Amino acid sequence: MINPFKEALPILKKIEEAGYEAYFVGGAVRDHLLNIQINDIDIASSATPEEIKAIFPHTIDVGIAHGTVMVIWNQDTYEITSFRTESTYLDYRRPEQVFFVRELKEDLKRRDFTINAMAMDKNGQIIDYFNGEDALKKKEIKTVGNPNERFQEDALRMMRGIRFVSTLGFQVEKETLKGIVDNQQLLSKIAVERITAEFEKLLQGRWCSDALEIMIETKLYRFLPMLESAEKAISQLAKLHLTKLELPEKWAVLLLCMGVKDKQQIEMFLRAWKLSVKQIKTVQKIIYWILQREQMPTWSRQALYFATLSIAVSAEKIYQLLWNQEICSDISSIEEQYRKLPIKSKEELAISGNDLLRWTEKRPGPWIKDVLSLVESKVVEQKLPNDKQLIKEWLQRCHQI
Ligand code: ATP
Ligand code: MG
Repeated sequence: MINPFKEALPILKKIEEAGYEAYFVGGAVRDHLLNIQINDIDIASSATPEEIKAIFPHTIDVGIAHGTVMVIWNQDTYEITSFRTESTYLDYRRPEQVFFVRELKEDLKRRDFTINAMAMDKNGQIIDYFNGEDALKKKEIKTVGNPNERFQEDALRMMRGIRFVSTLGFQVEKETLKGIVDNQQLLSKIAVERITAEFEKLLQGRWCSDALEIMIETKLYRFLPMLESAEKAISQLAKLHLTKLELPEKWAVLLLCMGVKDKQQIEMFLRAWKLSVKQIKTVQKIIYWILQREQMPTWSRQALYFATLSIAVSAEKIYQLLWNQEICSDISSIEEQYRKLPIKSKEELAISGNDLLRWTEKRPGPWIKDVLSLVESKVVEQKLPNDKQLIKEWLQRCHQI
């Protein structure tokens, strides 16, 4: 058994000693069998949340209504979810109410895909009631049970299925794919935040292009925020080599494929996806500097300075990707150039507003900002050394003070 599981073994043992069952479940078991990096370890147990809390001295209630308790163990935290079923589904969303059960099989049955519905016991034995291992071999994403029913219970599963195409490079099994086609409109019932979380995972997967193609094939894209009629943009996006891009850069490319370049339009689009103000600002800046980059033969000192390094690198990567289909030339030359800038921010300027006031008889006012901006530009362009005395003399010579 590999390390993350080994470290969590005492937890399984402790639960069993108390007379209950406990297993590793879900994504960690899947990724372990695929021999890929495990994200987080989920544990399922026949003990109820209250019973789990009675076993461990340090726990946090993270989602007790849904049966999840967080156990703090050797400075690590583990989520333990009680075996449960979700028999009543309201309005195609996650159930409001869950029912705790004592059988593992019942718990595995409510899970989305067969590859996610396996358990592993403390000896590394795999429990696989729904042929998950077979699906792993076939590289297939297949719902546990009837796809129509499963997507009608929780329509987010359609998104999840396609995001596993992106992260695992699997195919969606035929009936499951048909289930997505037949139930696509139910995605509109799902909270945007949940859709965004899955879409961002989709964007970050190695097989993102394949997943985007399936978005088009199933027409599920029509129920994504602001993408109702974005077939062309999505297929354009699918043709690009996106793997070398970071998440905000991918959002920027999607927007450019949509022809959305204007600051306000970008905000409206990303707000619909409920992205944070910080994320929105980053994407706005990246797009602004891609547009600037199109007007310049190369990065000027001014442009680099005002863009800041990370935004300039993002903009350059996308600029190259859109023009050459590939990020080919060396991005590190931008870093080199940036390092050589005489100053990196206004704060590093050798003079301040107070200096200007001391050197003149003038009253404080907007002129200070204007003069400082002028000096800042000259210093960045290396037309003026960043030296207090030399700046003062230059300002006097140009009758600025
Ligand atoms: P990742 O590696 O991205 O974390 P994961 O499969 O672990 O993938 P999670 O969202 O962490 O995905 O969910 C953990 C497990 O919970 C899944 O493997 C699956 O068994 C179950 N699950 C999650 N979401 C759903 C859902 N909407 N419907 C049914 N089962 C779900
Ligand atoms: Mg997980």
